[in-house]
Amino acid sequence: MKYKRILLKLSGESLMGEKKYGIDSAILQQYAEEIKKVKDLGVEIAIVIGGGNIFRGVQAEKSGIDRVQGDYMGMLATLINAMALQSALEQIGLYTRLMSGIKIESVCEPFIRRRAIRHLEKGRIVIFGAGIGNPYFTTDSTAALRAIEIESEVVLKGTRVDGVYTADPEKDASATKFQKISFTEVYEKNLNVMDMTAFTLCQENNLPIIVFDMNQNENLTKLVKGEQIGTLITV
Ligand code: UDP
Repeated sequence: MKYKRILLKLSGESLMGEKKYGIDSAILQQYAEEIKKVKDLGVEIAIVIGGGNIFRGVQAEKSGIDRVQGDYMGMLATLINAMALQSALEQIGLYTRLMSGIKIESVCEPFIRRRAIRHLEKGRIVIFGAGIGNPYFTTDSTAALRAIEIESEVVLKGTRVDGVYTADPEKDASATKFQKISFTEVYEKNLNVMDMTAFTLCQENNLPIIVFDMNQNENLTKLVKGEQIGTLITV
């Protein structure tokens, strides 16, 4: 295996599938199966899942809800997704632990770094819910921070697009994909990979990011085996 320990970031939006809101159970099941394939290869897996399919702090402001309040609502949305994913993983026989950035003790453990690492060593899949636990951050930042804390070798950002393009491929048909790109080039070309807080954290800590299409069968497995899939962002 190319990687022994990975952090997989899944966006909340990807869980919607064709729906406009919420969770598509078929997608959830599909993701669980993909994760199981990688687990069966002996890879240690931590997961951060977003909440954009349910609620985002910035959208709260538009409806007159205080931004900070909205961000906490967003964090709770990520927990709903995390619980759904946990359930899907357990249904196919995997051992999991959900750790939350906000204390919510009757539902899951609080995030404790050493404990998270221990869970991984014991073969449990660790899901980080409720983001970092602070407003004004995103789940991309959570992915970057937690990956550094648990000494993950890479952040695998699973999206609906199969990598980083010169322009948004959903809007510009002439956009071309990068196989590999440096952190500096991403800044220079003003490309959208992650929010800047998350991106800078990865760069400063020399943590590679791979952006890839999570909906493509076997992509996750191919990645951990070292195949060139998606776009690698590195120094
Ligand atoms: N959020 C936050 N702090 C965090 C992580 C998330 O305040 O550490 C809030 C923020 O409002 C964000 C929402 O939770 O918009 C959902 O997360 P995100 O937008 O990152 O989800 P994704 O885009 O991956 O679905």
